[in-house]
Amino acid sequence: MIIILEPDLPDQDAAVAAIAAAAERYPGVRVTPYRFAGARHTITEVHLVGSTAEVPADVFEAMPGVRLVVRVSAKYRLIGRHHPTHETVGFDYNGVRFDDGSLHLVAGLCAVDTREHVDLMMAALAREGIVTTRMGAYKPRTSPYDFQGLGAACLPYVFELAGRHGIRVVAMEATDAAHVDEIQRALDEAGRPTGVMLQVGTRNAQNFELLKRVGRQRDFPVLYKRGMGIGLEESLNACEYIASEGNPRIVFCLRGVKTHLGEPHRNLVDFSHVPVVRRQTRLPVCIDPSHSVGKLVIAPDGLPDIFHVTGQGIVAGASMVLVDFHPHPERALCDGAQALTLDQLRPLADYAATMRAAYETAASAYRARRGAPTGPAS
Ligand code: PEP
Ligand code: MN
Repeated sequence: MIIILEPDLPDQDAAVAAIAAAAERYPGVRVTPYRFAGARHTITEVHLVGSTAEVPADVFEAMPGVRLVVRVSAKYRLIGRHHPTHETVGFDYNGVRFDDGSLHLVAGLCAVDTREHVDLMMAALAREGIVTTRMGAYKPRTSPYDFQGLGAACLPYVFELAGRHGIRVVAMEATDAAHVDEIQRALDEAGRPTGVMLQVGTRNAQNFELLKRVGRQRDFPVLYKRGMGIGLEESLNACEYIASEGNPRIVFCLRGVKTHLGEPHRNLVDFSHVPVVRRQTRLPVCIDPSHSVGKLVIAPDGLPDIFHVTGQGIVAGASMVLVDFHPHPERALCDGAQALTLDQLRPLADYAATMRAAYETAASAYRARRGAPTGPAS
């Protein structure tokens, strides 16, 4: 059961204490308060966990400062939306706001290979005024004989160049708990010229120890990629591990799912799940068109499939796009076949902005005719 207090309630602690006192009457019920800082409001929730079946909602509904009491059946209670009127829980990190009202292109190298390529990539981003990038140092590869990433060795120059080019956030996968420490150490040694969003990749979507590790630290936000071979519900439960360990700064990323039914794309593009994830959770939703499509093929209208699915995800409400670029895809050591070239950066940014504007205009026109959402939360 979740007891939601009025937004920005002045005496939240007193309200929480009163709820905790009332809950003491019911054995086997644990009380945990959580505070969520949304774009417009700060909301406190009190979660009752355990034997809550017999706990009556009206006792809490009648208490001063309580806005709403929701019985929660979903296990992903912290990331869950639970009510259609709940705000998405966005966050600010290193001067960048991540929520569902913004759009970020997180464009960069799937795998760092040379300093020169990092420099070229970041210089191109800086020219376009883009402050978010992706840079893979630790690569989870299907074959042990494939390039595994440069690891900690590349971190000093990745962070140094990021600072020099005004990059605020570098999305970077950690495939092991030790990588979190290595990234933290390297960032400190570089003098924190940029920020890092830790990525948990699809292969680690249910690596619960890694999820707990990235959840325990509060330094970096986390980009969680759905599991490619498990149900969405399982990915949502796994993602909850991050929040349950204390880190609420999470973005949920769709990246396609593994099935031959998606062929000729690398994965079956799952961006029709953007509204599903937005309904089920309060997290900003990212799409990864590069790993979904997996190749640079051009549709008869002249646009790469990667552009098309990017548009589909944005029109469905995604607020972040993780996308592979490379200055020389033919020289890339990982996923060169799906990398866009630097001359595609401005066209993609324009295309994404156009799609975002179309989404906002069309969605607000629809709401103006039909009213605000009132439907079930799941
Ligand atoms: C990646 O983003 O580099 C990556 C490996 O993605 P995924 O985990 O979705 O395969
Ligand atoms: Mn890749």
